[in-house]
Formats: sequence, C-alpha cells, structure tokens
Amino acid sequence: MFFLVFGFAALAAPRLGGGWFLVSPGYGYEHPKYEIDASIDTARHFIQAKQRVTFVNNSDKSTSQIYFHIYPHRKYNKEEKNFILRYAAYFKVNPFPERFRTGDLKINTVSSEGKSLKYAIEGKDNTILRIDLDKEISPGRAVVLDLDYLVVIPHMYGRFGWHKNITSLLRWYPILSVLDKEGWHNYPFYPYHQPYFSEAALYSVKLTVPGGEVVIHSGILKSEARNADGTRTLFVESELPLRDFGLTLSPDYKVKSLETEGIKINSYYLEGDALYAQKALDSAAGLIKFYAEKFIPYPYKEFNIAPSFLAYGGTQSSNLILIDTRVYRLPEFLQRYFDFLIVHETGHQWFYNIVGSDEYKEMVIDEGMNSSFVLQYLAQKYGQEAEVMVLPKALSWLIPSFSFQRAQLDRYSFVAKNGLDSPVQGELSSFQEPSSIFSITYGKGSKIWEMLNYAVGEEVFQKIMQRYFNEYTFKNIALSDIKALAEAEAGTDLSWFFQQWFKTSKKCDYAVKEVKDNKVILENRAEIRMPVELKIEFADGTTQKLSWDGLGKEKEFLIEPFKTIKSVQLDPEKRLLDLDRVNNNWKRKIDLKLVPLYYPIYEIPVFLKDDAYSLVFGPQIGSDLGVRSSLQKPQDNILYLSSGYNFGEQRIKNVLGFQQRHLGGRLLKWGIEAFDYNDTSGKDDQDGFKLYLRKELWPVSYGLADENDHLSLYLLKNRDFKSALTSGGLEDIRNLYYRRQDEAIIGLNLKLGRYGPYPDLLNGWKFISTLENAEHFLGGDTFFWRLANELSRYGSLYPKQAIAARFKLGLGYPPDKGLFQLGGENGLRGFAYKTINGSQALMFNLEYRQDLIDNLNVRFLDNILGLDKIQGVGFFDIGKSWFTSFNERSFKKDAGLGLRLHFTLGSFLEKFVLRLDAALALSQPKAKRHYWLGFGHMF
Ligand SMILES: [Zn+2]
Repeated sequence: MFFLVFGFAALAAPRLGGGWFLVSPGYGYEHPKYEIDASIDTARHFIQAKQRVTFVNNSDKSTSQIYFHIYPHRKYNKEEKNFILRYAAYFKVNPFPERFRTGDLKINTVSSEGKSLKYAIEGKDNTILRIDLDKEISPGRAVVLDLDYLVVIPHMYGRFGWHKNITSLLRWYPILSVLDKEGWHNYPFYPYHQPYFSEAALYSVKLTVPGGEVVIHSGILKSEARNADGTRTLFVESELPLRDFGLTLSPDYKVKSLETEGIKINSYYLEGDALYAQKALDSAAGLIKFYAEKFIPYPYKEFNIAPSFLAYGGTQSSNLILIDTRVYRLPEFLQRYFDFLIVHETGHQWFYNIVGSDEYKEMVIDEGMNSSFVLQYLAQKYGQEAEVMVLPKALSWLIPSFSFQRAQLDRYSFVAKNGLDSPVQGELSSFQEPSSIFSITYGKGSKIWEMLNYAVGEEVFQKIMQRYFNEYTFKNIALSDIKALAEAEAGTDLSWFFQQWFKTSKKCDYAVKEVKDNKVILENRAEIRMPVELKIEFADGTTQKLSWDGLGKEKEFLIEPFKTIKSVQLDPEKRLLDLDRVNNNWKRKIDLKLVPLYYPIYEIPVFLKDDAYSLVFGPQIGSDLGVRSSLQKPQDNILYLSSGYNFGEQRIKNVLGFQQRHLGGRLLKWGIEAFDYNDTSGKDDQDGFKLYLRKELWPVSYGLADENDHLSLYLLKNRDFKSALTSGGLEDIRNLYYRRQDEAIIGLNLKLGRYGPYPDLLNGWKFISTLENAEHFLGGDTFFWRLANELSRYGSLYPKQAIAARFKLGLGYPPDKGLFQLGGENGLRGFAYKTINGSQALMFNLEYRQDLIDNLNVRFLDNILGLDKIQGVGFFDIGKSWFTSFNERSFKKDAGLGLRLHFTLGSFLEKFVLRLDAALALSQPKAKRHYWLGFGHMF
C-alpha cells in the first residue's frame, strides 16, 4: 500500500515553541518512521526483532528498490581482525580480550502489507539489504515494510558488542540507506571510524529485556511493564527525529542526573567512578549551553552519557554518548582531557544528530566542525591556548604542558611534512592508515572551518551557521550545500577556498623572505593561496597592519621611509594552517628554555613553540649526571650537545649530534652523532660516531616501547656497548658482539611486523634483520661480514594464554671471529652475558605466557600509575654459537620461569611491561641460576 505521510510537526510542538520548528516542514520532506519490537537476550547475546519501516521517497526520482544497511552482518576476514587488533594498539587495548565472536544479522522475512517481498544481501562487504518492491514509489510517496530478523551480538569491545557486563548496541538494526538526488548511498561498512550516513527518523520502540538490566537509549521512556518470565518491556518513543536509535545495557549502571535548560542529563557510571560521572554532567551541561547560544538549543528532553568497553575515547549516537570505561580513571591532572572527550561527543548532538552528514565521504563536516567549535568552547572556558594538563605545583615546574590547539594540529604537521597528507574530503578507505584520519579530518579539518570563518569574516560566518541549523535541522547537509550557503552569505565565489582545502592535499606556507631598509618582501613557499595579514612593529613603538591577498609567489611592501622596522610578523593571529611558522617572523625568533631537568619530552615538537627556534638547556640526571642543550626547529631538525659523568663507568661522556627529521617529505630522516668518552684513569677512553639514514615503513609506533617498521643504513665507528647510541633508532644489537675500539662498520637494519595488541602481543609476527660489514677505513683495523636474522611469531591459545616463539640465525665471516654472543637476558637466559660466542649462531626461544591475575585495577599516585595484570611465563631457550664447524659445539639449553607486570600510565595513555626472569641451564651439573630484570617482553 502506498500513501502520503502526514507531517510530524504536531509531535514536535511541545518542546520547540516559538517559530523555530517552522524551518523544517515545507520542503516536501518527510522523515522515515521505524517501529521496532525487539527482545534482547543479554545472556545469550542475541536480539529477536520485528521492524516496521515507513519509507518516504524524498528524492525526485521513482524507485522500485529499497536499501538498508545491515552493519551487524559485516564479517571480518583474518587480515581485518588482525588489523583491528593492531589499530586498537594505538589505544593500548586488546579489543577481543576473551576471543572474538562475530556478530550477525539474519533476515527471516521481508513483507509489505502482508505480502512477502524478494530481497538480497549485497554490497562489497555484504552489509546492504536490497528489497525489491512490486511497484515503483514515485517522489513524495511512501511504502511500509515489515522486517523480521535476528541479531547476533559480537563478543568484542566497541560500540556494537558485548564484553563482561556491558552490551552496547549502536546501529544494530537495519537502517535505511540515504536516497537523495545522487541516488542511494549504499556505502560499505568500513571497520574504523564512522562509516555512517542516515536520515533522521521517528522511532517507536518496544524493548523486552532481562529484568535486572539498566537500559540507556536514544528515546523517551513512555511506560514499562514487568513480564511473568522476569523480563521487562519498555515502551520508548523518539518524540523528535533521531539520526539513529542506540542503546547500551548493563545491570551495573548507576546514575547521576542534572537538569539544565530544561534538559535532563543522565550520567551513568560503574561502581567506583562516581566522581568522574559527576564531572561528566558538568562538562556536558557546559557544552549544551555553549552550543545552544551559538547555534540552536538542544531540542530533545534527555541526554545520556554511559561508559562502555570501547577501545577508544568515545562515540556518539542520538541523545546518547558512549565513553570508554578507562576514561573514567584518568589522573586528576588530565581532567581537562576528560572534559574534552565528553564535550567532543556531546557536541556531536549538533554535528551528527541534529544536522547529519555523510560520514563516509565527508566526515570533515561532523568531525572537523565539531572539533573546531569545541576548541572555541575550551578557549572560552580555560583561556586562549589553554593547556591540556593541569599539574600540581609540585610537578608543574618539572613537566611541561601543551595546548589543545597544538595537540589538534601538531600531528597534521607531521603527516603533511612526511607526505602522508590526503584531501579531507574522501572515502574513509582512501586515507593511508587509520590514525591519519584523525590528523586530517579532525586536526586539519577543524582548522579549515576556522579559516573559512577568517576568509568570509566573523559576521558572515555566523550567518552561515545560522542557516546551517535553520535549514538543515533533522536533515543531512553536504559540503556542496555548505559551499552554497557560504557563497550566498558572502556574496562571492568561494570555489578557490573549497577546492584547495577540501579536495587537495596542497600545503600552506607563507614566509617573510627579506626585510631591507623600508622594504618588506613576503613569499608564498607552498601551493595554497590564502589572504594573509602582516604586522610591522617600528623602533618608535608604533605598529602598522597590512594585508596581502596571497596571490603570486612574492609580494613587496614599501613601508614609510623614515621609520626603522623593528620586527615583522606574518599571520600574527595564527589564522592560517601555516606549516612553517618559524619563517613567519623577521627576525627569526629564538625561544630560550632553561629547564630544571632535561629529558626527552623537550625534543617532542608539541612541547615547544611552533613559531621560533627552541634553545633548550638543562641538567640531565640518570646514569649520566651532566647537562644537555639543544637547538631545534620543531618537526624539522635538532642539534644537540650533552656532557656528563657516568658513575658506573667512571667516564666523562660528551655527545654531539644533529638530526634532520624529514627528507624530501617521505618519512626519511638522517643524522649524525659523535661521542667522546674519557675515563678518569685514562684506560677506558673511547670515541666514535654514527651516521645514519632511516626510512620509516609505518608512520606511527603503537607506544613508547614499540619500534616502528623501518629500514636504516648506518656507518658506525666504535660502537659503545654499554650505552649504544640511540639517536636515529637503536639498531638491533642484541646477541651481537662489538669490539668498541678500532672498528668501522657499515650496516643495514630492517624491522617489519604485523602484530597486536601492544605491548602484550597475542598475534602476528615480527622480523628483524641486521647486515653488517666491518672494513679497514676510518681507522678500523678489523674485517668481518655478519648477518643476523630473527623471526618471532605470536599466537593465543585461549583468551588468557599466549605462545611466543623466536628463531634466530646468525651467519658470519671470517669463521674465526667472535661475532655473536648468545648468553644473557636477550638470548640464552640460563647463561651469563658475553658467553656462548662464535662466528655463527642458531637460537630458538619459546615462551608460554599465562595471565595470572587480570583486571587488577590497582592504581597509584592518582591513577598516574596502575598495575593492570600479572602474567606468568614459562620459557625454554636452546641455541649454540660456533666457529668453523657446526658440530664443534653442542646445543646449550635452559629453562626458566618469569613474571610480567603490566603497568598503565595515565589509565589508557601508555602501557609498559616489567620483566623478571629466573633461568637455569639444563644438563649442566654445576649451573647456577641467572636472574634478569628488563622492560618489555624479551621478543
Ligand atoms: Zn567525533
């Protein structure tokens, strides 16, 4: 049966008042309607549902097919599962801690008016349900469809899945694909980020759930009934259109609520997290007020925040946001970061729920805009350039902080300078790797909207945003619509802006090229053109502001002749996404930073100024006691010098180094580091250097203790064994013997791997290869060739048990040289260091890793440090090293037991493993036990 659907204005009236809702009807647009009757079995993890959908053809063409997304039907192949495991490593979590069980959505019947219809499951990943109608639906007409289906809930972390006592169900039911003037948007389900695009629809949902479950959902609970079998049935209405109908259930949810601006905010939490649940209420209320004043009031009656096992910070559904449980355990000094996570997800109620967009191809709208306005909110709340960390006085002198602004853009800088940029508008799958989606659509994306504001002016931009919400509330907006709005309000063609910033990965870099007498020459050093402002300060204290339309490669300004120019600043308010801000100043600025303690954090760009060279100087305390200084251009290069005394070695150690961080924009860097160590007794003097060229084969590492896939080429003179030079990445020196004196080596090191989750690998492989040649040059008087290859494999037996195996083969020439050493903590653990030598080597290590105590949740120092898990390890090592003949020596064997203490830093920000091993050599009558202590698993 086909019929015209009536308007929903009546339903909407009570909350909206005024003339506000008048913006929505009158466009020949009707919202779809879903009536769902679902029984959720949280013990057996499935849902039985009947769903009636009223679809209205709002497009200008007839259609005889209807398409739905059935995301739960997505099946993952092994490669994808591993990729998810690997991707989750960025968030320091195993998303399948109890093994992965796939989800499903099985369609039982599809009918209309009691007549069954033909359907098919299609799309490149089988997540599209196509229903063939027996008639065409012309524009403005509707069809009512009845679907009967079964949903199997997967066992995994995430927005759709169950783990422990929480079942989260986002986009769990068949959701209409969007039909508009471009046709049906039948996108596949890309397993990362948000591959969603849907119409805002009206929902009437009947949910039958186990009696003890607390049910949090996108709608308004109208009534509730207890059933004889102990279950409960909830009758829920949307009242106003929703982008999706999400829910999450747990018997353990507790709640705190707050009424603000006529909205009830519910912050659900798990035992022990009440403090952060309270903070979440305040965070959400603050943003709701800010966005209400800036855009339109939150039109719904309720807003819910709930913890879930997500494996990432948070995610949005209509009137509901899910926040990762670990976020509720952030240390106090990161509460602004907690605030940020809550307000970001809350902000999606405007940039997703109220006005929707195509998140598969144009996620820069939702994520970019929301990020940009959230930044404004944080600036208003905490001040311009507000810092993310608020450290207690006792620590703030020691630990530097960084701003939300910089955090948002610094990673983009890295991505752009290393050739990993891509246009912000593009299919999710077009990004080079998932983590760059953040830097590009959120980071660069937010700045693009800020630059649109700058390009059209504040007043016009506000009008654009007004129309954005007035004309698109409960609808979808496309980038082309925003462009049309902007052009109409600005009264000018903005193609140049939209083309450059959204559809290309061109870069922006304006510079002050030269200042001579009264002449200022500006230069465009990249491809993007933008209007740019210039501020000139004169010796007499006066200032002058000029602007350049940014056209052409260079622009010369002639300034008043009788004044002396003191300084010139290009883009003084930092309006542009300028990739090199150091060259925006004349004269170039140097930021002198005297630090109380110099440690590696001062060589991370986000902690340094982005518009000046940094000169950092401070004492260094560690195994060496001394001072270190560096001159850096953040992201680009660093020159460093350190000098200190090592008490253990009783040597004065001087190091001088330089590193250029990206060569030719290709994740390529080179550097040189020279050292000169002087023994106080004069016996143990040593000097040498390392020159290296290193190519990263994967743009990010999973954590501080993870080494990127890379290929490096190096030249070494006299490697210092005790403290191998770490600059440019530490080559794999395990099990290799270095003579330290009169040795010149050319080497090649390759590391490849596909594994996860970091840092406790359960799956995948790692390959490390080192090829070295020592020659008679640079004062070297030794000669050899050696090749060390090592392959490790990881597999999980049962959820809490893993097997790790490593095989190592060393080949060397000439055969009389001791090139390998297998004894010690990184080889045969039942034997002492510097033992088991030879020119060839063969070794096999096997570890059985068993979780003894999991989810320990012991936290110290206000959650800065947490003990998460204790793992027991049983191991067996076998290997031998020989000179001329394989048979000249027998295999050495040892076995042992170990403990692995798994620690977290800042809840989910970093993880590390402390390793304790005790090993005993086998078939050696007088063998003594060896104990080892280290960081990370041995392999
Ligand atoms: Zn977001």
